[in-house]
Amino acid sequence: QVRVRFAPSPTGNLHVGGARTALFNYLYARSKGGKFVLRIEDTDLERSTKESEEAVLRDLSWLGLDWDEGPGIGGDYGPYRQSERNDLYKQYAEKLLQSGQVYRCFCSNEELEQMKEIAKEKNLPPVYSGKWATATDEEVQEELAKGTPFTYRFRVPKEGSLKINDLIRGEVSWNLDTLGDFVVMRSNGQPVYNFCVTVDDATMAITHVIRAEEHLPNTLRQALIYKALGFPMPSFAHVSLILAPDRSKLSKRHGATSVGQYREMGYLPQAIVNYLALLGWSDGTNDEFFTLEQMVEKFSIDRVNKSGAIFDAVKLRWMNGLHLKALPAEELLKSVGEQWRSAGILNESEGVFIQDAFKLLEGGMDLITDADKLLLDLLSYPLHATLSSSEGREILEDGLPAVASSLLAAYDSGELLGALEEGKSGWQKWVKAFGKSLKRKGKSLFMPLRVLLTGKLHGPDMGEGIVLIYRAGTSGIVAPQVG
Ligand code: GLU
Repeated sequence: QVRVRFAPSPTGNLHVGGARTALFNYLYARSKGGKFVLRIEDTDLERSTKESEEAVLRDLSWLGLDWDEGPGIGGDYGPYRQSERNDLYKQYAEKLLQSGQVYRCFCSNEELEQMKEIAKEKNLPPVYSGKWATATDEEVQEELAKGTPFTYRFRVPKEGSLKINDLIRGEVSWNLDTLGDFVVMRSNGQPVYNFCVTVDDATMAITHVIRAEEHLPNTLRQALIYKALGFPMPSFAHVSLILAPDRSKLSKRHGATSVGQYREMGYLPQAIVNYLALLGWSDGTNDEFFTLEQMVEKFSIDRVNKSGAIFDAVKLRWMNGLHLKALPAEELLKSVGEQWRSAGILNESEGVFIQDAFKLLEGGMDLITDADKLLLDLLSYPLHATLSSSEGREILEDGLPAVASSLLAAYDSGELLGALEEGKSGWQKWVKAFGKSLKRKGKSLFMPLRVLLTGKLHGPDMGEGIVLIYRAGTSGIVAPQVG
């Protein structure tokens, strides 16, 4: 049975890169009928916080990436926090010590620094010299008796190479001669990161390790530990980095990079998972719109690309628009109405107004919060800015004052308001007759009318817009500070 895991370190928020790793693991597990395990890697006690763990779990759940085993829900391979697995790490470290694959190293920090200096002078890689690798039992006992602190070092084969068959990158191999014996347990008894990860993946029976490319150097050490412990090696898949549009590593200076920020900005979880999947994966066609269920159906690790993927916030926004439009109309209408009320633009519910305004404006929306600006734009009257633009000037010079005076006459006689009272069909009848009387039609009729009635050069359908503006002005639905 396929068993994969997502193993976040709770030292901050869930970033888009981490979320994509979680998503690929989730998709792999679900598409293979396997298990998706969540493990919290909180060995770095200074940087790990409970709040961060909670935030990561909350954001994963919000994205819909539910796990089968992990903190909160348990499972057969728990505990699922590294901080609760120390005994296990010690037990395996002792086992390796017994078998000789790990040895005690009593070097002090000064000695280790010196080794690095010497290696540097000789132009050699700064690896451990192997001083304690060949110590006799007596030498070791002597230091133990003195109480000299020691680490556990892993005995790396001095030559040869190690290779893995990465499911995304193909064959990856390393020469072992430059690695040097590395520490698996510190002198304070704390196991090091690579050791914990290996013991965890092995004892949690993980079959596929899908994670970011930046972990590739760890894979070498982890693979050696796997072999030493005699556990079967999992398959590895290293996913490429997520890059900023300038191809540098994506970071905070490029804007929002955490899932929580996008949630707060009003993005839909289904749009985020859809977009993240496309950062490296495609179904082999040009299709880009997928629900989570569709992705589970189509996902294949063979189709994950090994080159870096560019995070394009503009495309994510656009994708959110697609998912917004795919929501059941009733649900979207309700959210938009609530959005307008909670933003203080509209007073208490006035169903018909909201429905009509929604119909008129929904096409321009990528985010639910876009609805605010769209409605405020509709109700605004920026006449001065319009007439100062060159396009506005042209309309002014093309007889705008004459159209204005006829319009005022139509207002004065009550004819215009009567037409608006009837709604869109009333407006259409009136505008036709009005054009006829002025001998204007098409652009030369509608542009001056649009400028005079809305103060703007562009906007949604003018008839529907004007009727709404009229109703906004007479119904009291628009909050006074806005209207
Ligand atoms: N805890 C590591 C991280 O957050 C992931 C380790 C792994 O996937 O092996 O980057």
